[in-house]
Amino acid sequence: MKSHTQVVVIGGGVVGCSVLFHLAKHGWTDVVLLERDELTSGSTWHAAGGMHTVNGDPNVAKLQKYTIELYKEIEALSGQATGVHLTGGVMLAATQARMDWLRGLVAKGRYLGIELEEISAKEAGEIMPLLDPKEFVGAVRTVVDGHLDPSGVTHAYAKAARALGAEVERFTRVEDIVRREDGLWRVITNKGEIITEHVVNAGGLWAREVGRMVGLELPVLAMEHMYLITEDMPEVKAWNDKTGTEIIHAIDFDGELYLRQERGGMLMGTYEKANKPWSEFETPWNFGHELLEPDIDRIAPSLEIGFRHFPAFQNTGIKQIINGPFTFAPDGNPLVGPVRGLPGFWVACGVMAGFSQGGGVGLALANWMIHGDPGADIWAMDVSRYGDWASMAYTNAKVRENYSRRFSNRFPNEELPAGRPLKTTPIYDLLSAKGAQWGAAYGLEIPLWFAPEGVGDEFSWRRSTDFEHVANECRTVRTSVGLSEISGFAKYRVKGQGAEAWLDKMLACKLPKPGRMTLAPMLKEDGKLIGDFSLANLGNGEWFIAGSGIAEQYHMRWFEKHLPKDGSVTIEALGPRLTGLSIAGPNARNLLAKVTRADVSAAAFKFMDVKKLDIGMAPCLVGRVSYTGDLGYEIWVKPEYQRAVFHSLMAAGEEFGIGLFGSRALNALRLEKNYGSWAREYRPIYGPLEAGLDRFVAYGKDADFIGKAGALAERASGGRLRLRAFIVETDDADVIGDEPIWFSGEVRGWVTSGGFAHGSKASVAMGYVPKEIADESGGFEIELLGKRYPARIQPALLFDANLERMRG
Ligand SMILES: Cc1cc2nc3c(=O)[nH]c(=O)nc-3n(C[C@H](O)[C@H](O)[C@H](O)COP(=O)(O)OP(=O)(O)OC[C@H]3O[C@@H](n4cnc5c(N)ncnc54)[C@H](O)[C@@H]3O)c2cc1C
Repeated sequence: MKSHTQVVVIGGGVVGCSVLFHLAKHGWTDVVLLERDELTSGSTWHAAGGMHTVNGDPNVAKLQKYTIELYKEIEALSGQATGVHLTGGVMLAATQARMDWLRGLVAKGRYLGIELEEISAKEAGEIMPLLDPKEFVGAVRTVVDGHLDPSGVTHAYAKAARALGAEVERFTRVEDIVRREDGLWRVITNKGEIITEHVVNAGGLWAREVGRMVGLELPVLAMEHMYLITEDMPEVKAWNDKTGTEIIHAIDFDGELYLRQERGGMLMGTYEKANKPWSEFETPWNFGHELLEPDIDRIAPSLEIGFRHFPAFQNTGIKQIINGPFTFAPDGNPLVGPVRGLPGFWVACGVMAGFSQGGGVGLALANWMIHGDPGADIWAMDVSRYGDWASMAYTNAKVRENYSRRFSNRFPNEELPAGRPLKTTPIYDLLSAKGAQWGAAYGLEIPLWFAPEGVGDEFSWRRSTDFEHVANECRTVRTSVGLSEISGFAKYRVKGQGAEAWLDKMLACKLPKPGRMTLAPMLKEDGKLIGDFSLANLGNGEWFIAGSGIAEQYHMRWFEKHLPKDGSVTIEALGPRLTGLSIAGPNARNLLAKVTRADVSAAAFKFMDVKKLDIGMAPCLVGRVSYTGDLGYEIWVKPEYQRAVFHSLMAAGEEFGIGLFGSRALNALRLEKNYGSWAREYRPIYGPLEAGLDRFVAYGKDADFIGKAGALAERASGGRLRLRAFIVETDDADVIGDEPIWFSGEVRGWVTSGGFAHGSKASVAMGYVPKEIADESGGFEIELLGKRYPARIQPALLFDANLERMRG
């Protein structure tokens, strides 16, 4: 074994081997994979080997497609058979709601280049002869689906990597990992030690234990999972003989089942409701090639449905039941990327569908390590989407919920209850008493809307029970004044003698003068967006930044990576140590004037001013800015004062008929101003010009800000895309995001977000289209729930088009 290397990959499952292959393929060949046993000795060896492209997140779906298309390449490079059978497949819906969801997938597939076709239940029965069409309302046919040999694929990755110069050390267990003062890592094994620049934790079932070696508690948990294999079935043989093809892969969402042919019989697996975590606290090191005891009672309810939906199963015997563990993150997507605070330590774990996702995970991680960027939009898999609030107990609750709902519908207005409430602000009970309906973001409870007694969300793809109440909240804001809680934003304090120069380099905007704020795009080296913030200069070298709450860890990782080593700048994420309230509407100034002695007149407190002032007796930081696009203020206050400030504002607002509004109303209001948001309109695949943020980029400023060359190049070339806001002529549903945008009969773009803009009574969609068609006055349609609706680009802002109200 080598004593020094550039990268150590820990784990010889399908994921570690894919990472090794991709590093070697992209030029890093001084890499060693350490496996404590034989390759595949974790969850990999007993996988059912199914693969498919479908994923709720379109970017993950793209990487799944990449993974499946890669198998031919690694087979050719390694000479190792992967056993890939691209049978195609069918996804089945037994309910109309599930069919609506499937139609959304077909629509997404159009711009992702994933071939999906809606078919009737009868047609499904013609291509998948074991199903009973009477049990289904419809289906979607898939092309890039099938199954493979898990061990063959893993060895093919490893052999191909070795052929490129990478090394694999089997029976070498990593026992500890220690960071040296010079930043290199000591990887201590039962066979000696390796010094390395980078460590990749691809420990699969032991990823948690490997994380703990460096003080990291990763949010992953293994779950027991069962599938059965039948005796040979005459129906299968008859089909094989008749068509010369295998029975295709099937997912029966309402039965929570997946199926495929296995030799002369069938394999059926299920995500049972009565699920069971495995090794909740610690994975035993002596676990290897053994299986867990099957528990047929647990899966019996699913099998009962399965045997009804696929009657041929009633006449066959079960040859074997496999029960094995594999890991999940709380939302079921992988955990990939560099870990904040541990330079050179990377993770590629929590991969629950290794044979659909392993290739994409390996590619993204190799790109990230070699080029400093994953090369694709992998937010849905980024390890930084969790903070330390994702504790072991939270993870346990969430993973179990996710497992039990793996094939369940999730409606756009459905908030999942497990692991909540976790983080709450001091006014949680006050807002609950006013009917707050809660959602959770980054572990924090966020008020979505305020419901009258006895009313709640009815889950639906269409407009629902909240519609009229959210409309009322919007009306209160636009006609008088509304108050909302905004603690969910990420808040950062930047200080130090080097702060100004550092911010000038990190952010693409012109820095504001003391007492002023600005919108601040942040770019990556390639000139694409990596953040959008509001930046306030508090004077005396102190700066305040507010940004996307869900991206706090993501942004802190970026900020810290770029901090000067001399300690001249400090940045702190304030998290729950700073809470926020916002007031907005034509009476917002009158309200603020009533609760403070400070001069908040239009002349003294201008749009984009920021001031420290007292509200009642509580010291606050107040910025004159509002995401509602109205006259408004954001009020930042320490949590111990939040209740007092809330009471002051509510009491003083009574004479104006103040009302509470939640994040759904905020969404409706911001759509009237075409304001985008992080992870929706603004993502690391768009440039500032494409995203319409170029007006905040100080292309000519002296500072050589990160991404300047890329941003200038984008400006010179005009970029590829444009963000546009559309009015959609829908009837009873609004876009939620990821719907295709049609132009002249072809899919040319995609929706990033939208909803009903109550104030203007318009259904609005924001999305990207190629710049060539971005100023067309007609010809657009947006596909929603299987139907194409006429859409037109908004010629002007729907509310306050000349900004008089906001700036007045
Ligand atoms: C019953 C069952 C059915 C499944 N069906 C499918 C399916 O149809 N399709 C699909 O895509 N996925 C399926 N999966 C999931 C799939 O198996 C996983 O997604 C995949 O195996 C994850 O691979 P991995 O490399 O991340 O982890 P693992 O396979 O667990 O590999 C981790 C490796 O790291 C090694 N290791 C850990 N710690 C150390 C250390 N300290 N030192 C050295 N080595 C270490 C382990 O020995 C192990 O070999 C199924 C899983 C199960 C259990």
